[in-house]
Amino acid sequence: MSALLDAVYDGEMTIGDLLRQGNFGLGTFNSLDGEMIVNDSVVYQLRADGRAGEVSHDAQTPFACVTHFRPEQTIPLTRGHSKEELETLVNGLIDNPNLFVALRFTGQFEMVETRTVFCQCHPYPPMLEIVRNQPTQHFWAEEGVMLGFRSPPYVQGLNVAGYHLHFLTEDGHRGGHVTDYYLSRGTLEIAAISDLEISLPRTKEFAQANLSPDNLHAAISEAEGG
Ligand code: ZN
Repeated sequence: MSALLDAVYDGEMTIGDLLRQGNFGLGTFNSLDGEMIVNDSVVYQLRADGRAGEVSHDAQTPFACVTHFRPEQTIPLTRGHSKEELETLVNGLIDNPNLFVALRFTGQFEMVETRTVFCQCHPYPPMLEIVRNQPTQHFWAEEGVMLGFRSPPYVQGLNVAGYHLHFLTEDGHRGGHVTDYYLSRGTLEIAAISDLEISLPRTKEFAQANLSPDNLHAAISEAEGG
């Protein structure tokens, strides 16, 4: 994650390799070409220009986080939940802030606010410059799926500490990186994760990146906008 902040937008891992590590998760693509959402082993690419669809297994990613999702708890949500209310609910269900949590909500959304990164060309601009020019999109009364992770505070920089969720409409054609939402009703599935495996790129750009900037926490908060 901190390499993305330092404009390292190209990785070496292919989507085919990534799928061997998990069938569920999120990330982005080389050149920051849209948001990734992986659900039941299907990898969707959500581009800022609205094009979306399944991805070739040859495509590569600079950042992705996946797991073999096996829900431990399945909870029907029969009333509306704000972002804060859902986070409080999940934090209560998995009462260990030092573990990762994978979560998936499938159902109806009253509102979802998203951002989607644009494909970048060399020389790559810094992440915060890109994010500041990124349009926000709102979805109203949509069916879809929102999934991702709660990561513990001590992995800030390696990943995004706290909640990081991506949204996909039921037709699989629209969505993005979630910045806010209000859920109507549906099903919440969650699992605690206690195993972590990391694959780092061996590229020159990654070797030269500053991965411990002074403003790391503020920069990730601004970049992720969650
Ligand atoms: Zn994201």
